[in-house]
Amino acid sequence: MTEQFYITTPIYYPNASPHIGSTYTTSYADTLSRYHRLKGADTYFLTGTDEHGEKIAEAAEKAGVTPQAFVDQISNRFRSTWDELGLKPNGFIRTTDPDHQHAVQHFWQLLYDKGEIEFRGYTGRYCVGCERYLTERELENGKCVQHLTEPEARTEENYFFKMSQHFDWLIQEIESNPELITPERYRNEVLSMLRSGGLEDLCISRPKSRLEWGIPLPFDDGYVLYVWADALINYLSGVGYPDQASWETRWNGVHHLIAKDILKPHAVFWPIMLHAAGLPLYKGLHVHGYWSMDNQKISKSLGNLVDPLVMKEKYGFDPFRYYLLREMPFGLDGDFSEEAVVRRINDDLANDLGNLLNRTIGMLHKYFDGIVPDSAGEHVLSETASRVAEEVDVQLQAFSTQRALTVIWELVSAANKYIDTRAPWKLAKDESQRDSLAAVLYECLEALRVTAVLLESFLPETSPRIFERLGIEPPTGLLGERLRWGQLPAGATTLKGEPLFPRIETD
Ligand SMILES: [Zn+2]
Repeated sequence: MTEQFYITTPIYYPNASPHIGSTYTTSYADTLSRYHRLKGADTYFLTGTDEHGEKIAEAAEKAGVTPQAFVDQISNRFRSTWDELGLKPNGFIRTTDPDHQHAVQHFWQLLYDKGEIEFRGYTGRYCVGCERYLTERELENGKCVQHLTEPEARTEENYFFKMSQHFDWLIQEIESNPELITPERYRNEVLSMLRSGGLEDLCISRPKSRLEWGIPLPFDDGYVLYVWADALINYLSGVGYPDQASWETRWNGVHHLIAKDILKPHAVFWPIMLHAAGLPLYKGLHVHGYWSMDNQKISKSLGNLVDPLVMKEKYGFDPFRYYLLREMPFGLDGDFSEEAVVRRINDDLANDLGNLLNRTIGMLHKYFDGIVPDSAGEHVLSETASRVAEEVDVQLQAFSTQRALTVIWELVSAANKYIDTRAPWKLAKDESQRDSLAAVLYECLEALRVTAVLLESFLPETSPRIFERLGIEPPTGLLGERLRWGQLPAGATTLKGEPLFPRIETD
């Protein structure tokens, strides 16, 4: 049976344009989906926008437009930005889509029918910024720790999902499956959250009298659903739940990629919602850190959002994408600075990789008129190449693009070092060393070809340029086949050309 790989990003909240955080997550998911597709998995990559809730209603009012007009505009901006950056989701879901609304209503009706929902009166402290009632421990000096505002006292009757009766089940589930939440620090964080006793049942409704911009509860028309109770279901509706038969197959291979700020809804609400509905859990929840800028928080209010389109204009998107995927260790935070982007471009891309291509092809032109010689190579780098390919696979199964790229650069370094050691310019002086010279250059060309294959998922615009310089068509077939050592054909005409990545001059 074909392996399923279904990867999701969070659906982005369209109160701001795409910035470094959403660009990072989307590039990350794009890379993983390309990689698994290349390996032969039946792959689906879903992203989208989360369009309901109080904050959207307020932002629309401020902008003087209807909420629908407001979200239409911003959702389009997300879609067109990903398109412009060459990020290729298979599906783009909007929570205002009729299919999604139908799925959400179906889901909550199911839970209602199963007796998982209760109608209760509740008095609490409500934070407008958080769009929810806060618990005692979320307050500091009576203020919301996140928004630094005093929550309002509110009393209302609402529908509650009886989540707390499933906490023990969830603890067991997480304990028995170390792969469910990664990296481990977040798994531990969730377990201690669950054991702390600080979590309660989940209020899933908002009376229409104070919020109209939401999906109506299927069993009470006087209420709309709380945004998370609506948004999380996108992962199901995005693959056709409940009406299209194919959704269950996709669901068997589902992995969620999120930033650490939305750990609780994804690691507590969502698995319990699925369990209560009798649906299987996700395969994995993978949590990455935050980007800061020059060690400051990145936020709309600080005005230091990083616009990916500006980065593309300035550096090209592949180099920027390389920086994002290489710089942030999986699970930890990353600090963005343009100096660091430039350093990555100059050191890794221009010096290591670009230079390897240039010097190899330069020597081939000098000694063999640019034509790939008829040689099997020396089979020195082939071992490194196959070890690297295996390690890349291990790292990507563990969702670490940062380690995977580090490993690919081991092959690049090995090839550069090999040239230095074998010194083709010395071999070229001795006619009796002609076969050795051919073998050494073939070895480097093939290492470049394999590097380009390994980079296809990370740098989709760069690999085809390397193949072109090597004088070959982009390879076809699955990853394993593409990686097989020794496929560069004798007689191929390589191209000298502009540097793959021009160095960026700094002063
Ligand atoms: Zn708040």
